[in-house]
Amino acid sequence: MGMFMTVQEPTYRDIERRWKALRARDVRVREVACVGAPRTLLCAEYGDHTLPAIHIAAGVHGDEPAGPHALLALLETDGLDPRFSYRLWPCTNPSGYDAHTRESIDGLDINRTFGRGGSSPESRAIITANRDRKFELAIDLHEDDDASGFYCYEYGGAGIGEPLVDMLSGGGTPIDPRRVLTPDPDAEAEAIGGRTLTQLLVRNAARLGLTLETPSTVLPFSERVATHVAAVQFALLRLP
Ligand SMILES: [Zn+2]
Repeated sequence: MGMFMTVQEPTYRDIERRWKALRARDVRVREVACVGAPRTLLCAEYGDHTLPAIHIAAGVHGDEPAGPHALLALLETDGLDPRFSYRLWPCTNPSGYDAHTRESIDGLDINRTFGRGGSSPESRAIITANRDRKFELAIDLHEDDDASGFYCYEYGGAGIGEPLVDMLSGGGTPIDPRRVLTPDPDAEAEAIGGRTLTQLLVRNAARLGLTLETPSTVLPFSERVATHVAAVQFALLRLP
């Protein structure tokens, strides 16, 4: 009988366990029910809730693992700017994460289901839980397997995208020719046939929005995680 050396990818359960362990470090972690589906989403709060709030989400596409790992790393290393409070969605597509698929187990691209009150169990759970808050900035962590480098989408005239790309480029991170895209959120939702979480937030609840994309076929996993960590920290630093 042969011996096999296998590398076990962390499962969603592993992600969940690491977030719950953060409860010992003042991260308020709860599970939000996805009504109509046999799963929950993790939702975490961090920081003094009287401070301006930042929304950060990751993992809406299950084949883009660097985002969830970067968000975990930011908490596990005390890497979030203490001038703000945070609402965090550690992995908004658990079934896709475990299957390594963009879509959820229901076959839905969840990041097209944030229109009209939500048309997936995951988007409805997020929309309902987010009703109580307004945000200074909403960040969503993604990856792109067609990109030749990092790029981002910027909403609300944040003025963060260009200096962010310059900072990463200066540190040696490859940059995609798209650099910084600044679409109108409503026109963009129309064009892609569904509303994203960031498009919804910048319409209703967030002053500024950033969607960050790391190049999943160009950089190794650890560098994509480090790029997301650096990008989030830079974006927060740029806020007044
Ligand atoms: Zn994505």
